[in-house]
Amino acid sequence: MTSSVEQFLSSDIPQYGLLKPEEVQEPLENLLGEAEEQLRKIASSREAAQWETVIEPLTNATERLGRLWSAIHHLGAVMDSPEWRELTNNNLEKISRFWSRLAQDKGLFEKTRSISLNTANAKLSESRERALNNSLRDFRLGGVELDSDAQKAFTERSARLATLSQQFSENLLDSTNSTKILIGHEGRLAGLPEAVAQAAREKARSEKLNAVAAFGLQQPSLIPVLQFADDRDLRKEMYSKNARRASELAEEGPEHDNSMLMAEILQLRQEQAKALGFSTAAELSLASKMAESPEQVMAFLLDLAKKARPFAEQDVAELKAFAKTHLSLEAMESWDVSYVSEKLRQKKFSFSEDEVRQYFQVQHVLAGLFELVRELFGVELRESPEPDLSTYRWHPDVQLYSVIRGAETIGYLFLDLYTRPTKRGGAWMDDSRGRRRLVSQVQKPVAMLTCNFMPPSEHRPSTISHDDVTTLFHEFGHGLHHLLTEVDELEVSGINGVEWDAVELPSQFMENFCWEWEKLQSMTCHVETGEPLPEDLYKKMIRAKNFQSGLFMLRQIEFALFDLRIHHQVIESDLQKAAKSIMDVLHEVRSEVAVLHPPSFQRFPQSFSHIFAGGYAAGYYSYKWAEVLSADAYAAFEEEPTNYTAVGQRFWREILSKGGSRPALESFKAFRGREPSPEPLLRHSGLLETA
Ligand SMILES: [Zn+2]
Repeated sequence: MTSSVEQFLSSDIPQYGLLKPEEVQEPLENLLGEAEEQLRKIASSREAAQWETVIEPLTNATERLGRLWSAIHHLGAVMDSPEWRELTNNNLEKISRFWSRLAQDKGLFEKTRSISLNTANAKLSESRERALNNSLRDFRLGGVELDSDAQKAFTERSARLATLSQQFSENLLDSTNSTKILIGHEGRLAGLPEAVAQAAREKARSEKLNAVAAFGLQQPSLIPVLQFADDRDLRKEMYSKNARRASELAEEGPEHDNSMLMAEILQLRQEQAKALGFSTAAELSLASKMAESPEQVMAFLLDLAKKARPFAEQDVAELKAFAKTHLSLEAMESWDVSYVSEKLRQKKFSFSEDEVRQYFQVQHVLAGLFELVRELFGVELRESPEPDLSTYRWHPDVQLYSVIRGAETIGYLFLDLYTRPTKRGGAWMDDSRGRRRLVSQVQKPVAMLTCNFMPPSEHRPSTISHDDVTTLFHEFGHGLHHLLTEVDELEVSGINGVEWDAVELPSQFMENFCWEWEKLQSMTCHVETGEPLPEDLYKKMIRAKNFQSGLFMLRQIEFALFDLRIHHQVIESDLQKAAKSIMDVLHEVRSEVAVLHPPSFQRFPQSFSHIFAGGYAAGYYSYKWAEVLSADAYAAFEEEPTNYTAVGQRFWREILSKGGSRPALESFKAFRGREPSPEPLLRHSGLLETA
């Protein structure tokens, strides 16, 4: 094994900067071979089955492989290149087959099952018992109880699914990157914030385009154009090109069309579910979640929709009337919605999002966030003292922090904040190492946080919108969940083993603090004057906080219902028909819950990576589901406003520190002293009749 890969695998802080695509293939194969050899040894061992003789070596065998593979995956997502792509694509099926084989190993399954029997007298710890139960469940969901022919087919489908998801992501990124909107004269930039216009001019210059300015479809240009550009044709062009991404109607032609991939993904998921005795993929998905059945989730979503609907209808009526009387837009089109909303917001609350943005310089926001984390959980984040960061980071933008409690470093955090064409869109947290107690020491958790903020320019630091601030806090909450764990077993420490529909609890919880006056004071610093956020602007922001919250809530419910229904129906065996039925379900859901209807060329599912390329299949509802928990958790702070540190410590003790070591509902009840209530979510969103 080359020394750089070995160094990456064994160091406390992973050294991503050492990994080169051309040096990774052989080590990956070696690790795969080693892991397989270990599994064989464990399965054939004659020792009595115990935690120490089965689970521990099993985890040892797979952890190093997992480290390298997830690094390849991560680097492909943030530093996309033909070399990383090839590595991912060449090994995807091999790795998927390995995990399938492991899950289907009847010998290992039997050994795992007998641990609880063998240790009946010496009781297992809570976290080991939880890990063991999860493991038995995963064996079953991985097909261990199938006969060998069915197992083979199951494995083939899993491998194919892994490939299709990867293709889906690549299509979307390529389609996004293949579109440029060229601007012929300055007049077309009217209305845009200067920083956005400047970035567009720089883009045209640096890419030597024959234009005054140019836009791509990446979020930091798409969103402000739709929101601020006075040029309606420009908005229409951006909206239309974005809406058709990765579809048969895409700007560049059908070469990145995701439609057939989506159809095949759904078919395969359905077959996997049937093989395991579930009637639909949605039922299989819920087997490892907090929610009990698709029907329960559907009822939950429809109930929220019912409550949000009157508010959303009001929102739309107000928008349309405003568009007509103030902007002379007789018919408000989809490409006008953000623009009209922004103008209405300015009129109603007399401030613009761009005005707010000037106060949020990324590095100041981070400082305020770190201060909050110190107050709530007593931990400090310090920029890493490592002398040579280039061996650790994958790009010069990346920052590395140590997480410190008392005098002890308890984990590490990588931050990769700015957008670039080689990075996938959106924001997310990934784990790189999980906490684990080893014989001689504790392995420290490492988290990686990726965002797509507008980078600083030569003359100006990066400023972000308040929405971006919320996103940063959100992802940071995932990071804290992973970093502040005190669980000793890797299988259930940090975010490992947490039910998917409870994973958003700490992340959405953190978002609430972006609205507190004192917290905002410590994280704002006007980019020109250096002033913190003034109180009158803050008051306007608070008044505007629930602006269009009914509309927003309905849109999230639309996505969640669409996701659940396409996974909870019979999928046609004909791919064309299956693809069509996906769009049919979308239209059905829209006619049921939506109050705004996009044009017929819009191809939303083709870019819905959460469910086709991420882990959210039949799980997008998790955002709303967990928001009930997170809003109610934050309400505990509202009830004791002078006691943040004590409530924060309790939140850590009962939720963050426990990770996946016990059911999420139990952790919630331990923190709150009762079952979750949906009232705080509705109250915070301004969706209570009495509010
Ligand atoms: Zn999240």
